[in-house]
Parts: sequence; C-alpha cells; structure tokens
Amino acid sequence: MEPTVGPPASDRVFIFDTTLRDGEQSPGASLTPDQKVAIAWQLARLGVDVIEAGFPLSSPGDFEAVQRIARQIRGPMITALARAARPDIDAVWQAVQDAERKQIHMVLSVSDIHIERKLRSNRRDVLRRGVEAVAYARSLCDDVEYSPEDAGRADLEYLFETLEAVIDAGATVVNIPDTTGYTLPNEFGALIASIRENVRNIDRALISVHCHNDLGLSTANSVAAVLNGARRVECTVNGIGERAGNASLEEVVMILRTREKSLGLLTGIDTTRLAEVSALVSRHTGIPVQPNKAVVGGNAFAHASGIHQDGVLKDKLNYEIMRPEEVGMGESRIVLSPRSGRHAFQFRLGELGYHLSEADFGRAWEQFLALADRKKDILDRDLEDIVRSTHNLASTPPPLAGEGRVGVVA
Ligand SMILES: [Zn+2]
Repeated sequence: MEPTVGPPASDRVFIFDTTLRDGEQSPGASLTPDQKVAIAWQLARLGVDVIEAGFPLSSPGDFEAVQRIARQIRGPMITALARAARPDIDAVWQAVQDAERKQIHMVLSVSDIHIERKLRSNRRDVLRRGVEAVAYARSLCDDVEYSPEDAGRADLEYLFETLEAVIDAGATVVNIPDTTGYTLPNEFGALIASIRENVRNIDRALISVHCHNDLGLSTANSVAAVLNGARRVECTVNGIGERAGNASLEEVVMILRTREKSLGLLTGIDTTRLAEVSALVSRHTGIPVQPNKAVVGGNAFAHASGIHQDGVLKDKLNYEIMRPEEVGMGESRIVLSPRSGRHAFQFRLGELGYHLSEADFGRAWEQFLALADRKKDILDRDLEDIVRSTHNLASTPPPLAGEGRVGVVA
C-alpha cells in the first residue's frame, strides 16, 4: 500500500518486545522472575530496542521481575505497563527507575465501546484522566508512552483529539493498538497515515503500533503501519500474547530484512539469534512453536515434495527466500517421504556414503517407495536395510552412526 503522506526522516524501525508482558498473558504461559530475567538477557543480545518487562502492579512477583530486569539489563530501554492511575504509574516508576534507559507505558481506552461498557464513563472524563496521568508520569520520567486502547475501533476525531492532548501533556510515544485484531491492513495503514495528517503535534512523538492476531493479520497490519510512517512495532517472540497473540517479532523483522530493497526499512535485530530466542521462550512458557510457523517453525526450511527437493538441491534460491542461517535455523532439510523424488533419495544415500549402480539404485528406490507408504518416519537404519538388500555396492558403506531421522542433508 502506498503511503499517503511523506515518509518520516528515519528508515529505522524500532522493535518493542512485549513477550514478558503481553506474551506472558497467554493462557498458561506465566513466567517466574528468574525465567523473565533469563529471557530479557537474550532479548538484549537479540538487539531489541525496548523490553516491556511486565505489569508491576499486577503481582509482587511481576514487580520483582521488572525491577531485576531494569537493574541488570543494559542496552534496551526498559518499560512496564500501567493503567492511567497514580498507583499503577508509581509502581511502574519504582520498578523501572534504576534502568539505564526507562519509560513509563500507560494504557487507557479510547473507543466508545470501551468507554461506555468497560470504563462506564464518557469521552470528556476519559480524556481528562489520560492527560493528567501523562503529566504525572512525565513529572517522574522523561519517556512516556500513551496507548489509547482499542484505537482500531475508535471514533477518528476523538482519537486525534486524544493524541494531540496527550502529546501536549508530555507523551513522547503514542502507541496505536489494534487491541481486538479487527482492522484490515489497508485500514490500519490508512489510520496511521491519517494520524500523521491530522494530529497537529504528531512530529513531537514517535508512532508505535500494537497489533493483535485475532484474524491472523497482526504482522500484515504492523507492516502496513510502518509503510505509513509508524516507526516502532510492538511484538512478541513466537507471536504469543492475549487470545490469538501479538504480531510475531521474527516475522516483522524478517519481512523488513527480506524485502528491504522494496521497503527501505531497517531494524537493529541480530537475526541469527531469532531461532535461539524462539526456542528459549517456547521452553519457558511451555507454548510449542507450530511446525509450520513462519521463520522459526521446525518445517520453515524443510522440503518434502519431490519437485521442491529437486529444485532446492539444484539451487536453494529456487524455493528459499531466506537462508536458514540468517535466522539461526541451522541448515535446510530434505525430508524423505512418499512424496520425495529420486534426486533427494539419491542425495541422501550419497550423504550416507552409498553410491549404487544404476540397477541397484532402481531396486533401492522401489523398496524405498514401498516402505515410505507404510512408515511415517524413515530412519537412516531403514535406508541401510534397503541398501543391504540390494547387491553390487559400488563402494563399501561406512558404519552408520545413530538413528538420526532421515533428512538432515544440507
Ligand atoms: Zn496487547
């Protein structure tokens, strides 16, 4: 989608990681303070710009985790979430004030649905409360982020008025959340553009976005937002978070990297650490990464069909737009299955040290196909059995080590 207003001066997109706050809100994902600190260290090494470490008022354990992260982690800015009320803001400030760089992040609803049905209030009172909270937070901290919750469903004029007022009150970042994951990419991009066009003082604040994945659009909406001038993306490792989760950090980062020529945007992420951080978060939260997950899924660089295997063995560029090494995923895999082709089968046999005559290869191939139809996982031992049952080996096979699943080839 073409931006409707000129681009911001900077090409740099800042990555705000909320794995430890929104991500931890995934059902069943709660983390101990030790686990949160361990993940924060890895996020810092990954190169995220901001770590949202928790919601300090929610529990003493969360307060402790945020405080330990603020005291130990150097590099990223450390923030934590508050509602727009003094006890919340005080708790965040106490927890983050020892950080090298710190921010207070506060959230207050902006949609009529939330104002009427959740806050049971009215637009005027909510706006006043937001402005007072921002002014108070700024009296404590130089960096204050304001999130008008459910902005994706809010009345536009009221949203503009709110943003203008909180920026005047001292907000340095305005974060536009699509809290319910409702908007479409073209709508969300247009929303960001309209904010840049209509909010008088918007050049005094950084525009951030926070997209949820209820319709599977969180990554697309985040990208649409940066194309229209947002320069900070809130996301989580593996896309975990409330309900269907948040925009996935690894997807957003790899879209900007893989399509850098057409998008012209950069992040500060060391992408070679993505797989490692993904695995760490999965282990600590107990939420597995789906095998077909973009970028970090176990099958993201596995090729199973004969046509694809043949193409990849000739040149990986045929079926890979990213290199697995770029995201720390090791190497591409060729998975042997009934859908595999002769080329992949021969390649794997060669890897194991078997070089068969044409006639033996033909017999081995027939046996392989028959076995692959019966057996889900074909092990190296199965291949050894197949080869041994054929004759006239062109070379003496080396002893096979272990029982690795067939397929880790290149
Ligand atoms: Zn959220």
